[in-house]
Amino acid sequence: MATDGRGVPLLLHACCGPCSLEPLRLLREDGFEPTICWSNPNIQPVAEHDRRLRTLLDWARDVAHVEVVVAGDDRGAWERGVAPAGFDRERRCRSCYALRLAESCRVARERGFEYVSTTLAVSPYQLFDACEDVLLDLARANGLTAVWRDFRPHYAEATIESRELGMYRQNYCGCRFSSAEAAMERQRARDARKAARAARREGRLVVAPPEYFPG
Ligand code: SF4
Repeated sequence: MATDGRGVPLLLHACCGPCSLEPLRLLREDGFEPTICWSNPNIQPVAEHDRRLRTLLDWARDVAHVEVVVAGDDRGAWERGVAPAGFDRERRCRSCYALRLAESCRVARERGFEYVSTTLAVSPYQLFDACEDVLLDLARANGLTAVWRDFRPHYAEATIESRELGMYRQNYCGCRFSSAEAAMERQRARDARKAARAARREGRLVVAPPEYFPG
């Protein structure tokens, strides 16, 4: 594929707008010119899915000036292939990554890209090693080259910048299981902060946990 002087074309699977900020910037710094690929049938409910997609499209058009391919969102395949894992997070997330990244690799092949990557590698709340395995295997099977980077050190910058841009930021990964897990985690953190406040009143030093944001 010709680079038209803008960098080496790469198809970047994106899970949402806020998580796209830093990967796009860093990949451009590395000499790539990403096209974003949306394939996220994991996001529930549908209104939440549509809100995250709208946030991504607005940012891509108005701020990042990057093309977005809205690929397949096969919700039936997600229910059949991912949901049966339930609260077994490792199994569930592996199959969820596989579904979304397989669709991204299909689009990459169809459009003549050689390189593929994913914004999932920016969030410290994702299963980093499992996601790497899945992307590398799928890229190899499709005759593509995976560009796998640890974007996680830039997560804090992405958080600040997306807030400054007024982007919508979700407080759970996407599926109904992650929504329940995040709610439980927030409750646990609230209880721990309450306990820390009570301990301080009694003159004991206890460190309260930070806010939980599994984006
Ligand atoms: S937690 Fe996120 S990656 Fe894991 S199954 Fe749910 S939506 Fe997919």
